[in-house]
Amino acid sequence: MSILQCMDCARQYPITEVIYTCTDCGGLLDLVHDLDHMRGRITRETFDQRLGSLDSPYFSGVWRYKELIYPDVDEALIVTRPEGNTNLYRLPKLAQWAGVDRLYFKHEGENPTGSFKDRGMTGGVTQARVLGMKRVACASTGNTSASLAAYAAFAGLEGVVFFQNTQIAAGKLAQAIAYGATAIRIDADFDKNLELVREVSNKLGIYVLNSVNPFRLEGQKSIMFEAIQQLRWQVPDWIVVPGGNLGNSSAFGKGLVELHTLGLIDRLPRLAIIQAEGASPLYQAYQRGLDRLEPMKANTIATAIKIGNPVNYPKAVRALHATDGVVEQVSDQEIMDAKALIDATGVGCEPASACSLAGVRKLVDQGVIRQDEVVVGILTGHVLKDPEVIIDYHNNDLENITAHYPNRLYAAEASIEQLSRILTPENESLFA
Ligand SMILES: *Cc1c(COP(=O)(O)O)cnc(C)c1O
Ligand SMILES: [Zn+2]
Repeated sequence: MSILQCMDCARQYPITEVIYTCTDCGGLLDLVHDLDHMRGRITRETFDQRLGSLDSPYFSGVWRYKELIYPDVDEALIVTRPEGNTNLYRLPKLAQWAGVDRLYFKHEGENPTGSFKDRGMTGGVTQARVLGMKRVACASTGNTSASLAAYAAFAGLEGVVFFQNTQIAAGKLAQAIAYGATAIRIDADFDKNLELVREVSNKLGIYVLNSVNPFRLEGQKSIMFEAIQQLRWQVPDWIVVPGGNLGNSSAFGKGLVELHTLGLIDRLPRLAIIQAEGASPLYQAYQRGLDRLEPMKANTIATAIKIGNPVNYPKAVRALHATDGVVEQVSDQEIMDAKALIDATGVGCEPASACSLAGVRKLVDQGVIRQDEVVVGILTGHVLKDPEVIIDYHNNDLENITAHYPNRLYAAEASIEQLSRILTPENESLFA
């Protein structure tokens, strides 16, 4: 049986308990599986045989790895859309721009609600059913709410979402309302809303599905499993991921160590966590040798990572130590330019996701990533999540940001002459 275990004092709790942090010391909890029992029994073939399955649960890119996600769960309780099975794109133009030979992007925006949060939500909402909870809640910068709203509705539970009353991306707000969640806009930032949701939920018996919930992180580990399986179990040199509340970074570290422990990979990739300059408490701590987290007031155009007090900080530090990882920060200008280039390949992503590309370029410039190393970046969310910033960027209407890669929107009268003038090529490539 898997157990919940405090990462600080190692106290254990049964998985049937409704609990998010250690009642003794306040430490974060891990869902710990019996890896010793699995060694030798779970192999690459176990997972390769399930590729292309048409049936629940193995048709999901999360539950394909069920033994490593939630081995004991009753399959009848699993809530899956199904998620995962996202593409791994090799994009030579972006590789060249960033300065490496081989650069892949795993597009988590291709999940059912358009972000990687679905991989966590399938784990979290499944656990809500295991526990018999009727209501699930989260505080969110947007994508967690969209995902929770969808999965709660799909499972027949009530979803409750808290978000800040300003700066929420239109696509995310629209999804939460459309999927029928009880949606509450609050005059408080993400960090405050997370405190509120934990307190209110505790009081009213609602299950909290923020990334403090260990069952969510188990689902998110599958991004690593799937990426490495797509590379035919060849381990890349680097995994580059945007960092906000640091749930993904934490999950990646745990998942990679587990693959290594089971002998499914022969070495660990290095983790590079990229934060926005205006929301970079992990980067600041990293500069000081990861002494401690100093919460900050967050501000960035990449609203998905506008988080000043990341709850998973201790787990992210553990992941950095385990993988010999690094942390970098990028400006909103760098984020939006990198996004324009990703969008222009036809792949597209939301602003926060573009930290991956901006981060790779910066780390190559600094000589941290070498040109001949294989890099996998994570695109965390779909291009349509935040349509307003796209229009504003290409119109050069964003405050303090210059569009270096604009795609101009033309206007013409209904005349062949005008259209011909516009369509006479004088184009230079964006990537030149
Ligand atoms: C949630 C989210 C992030 C941040 O991920 P964390 O796990 O909180 O660090 C980044 N990008 C997008 C699109 C997200 O939705
Ligand atoms: Zn403890």
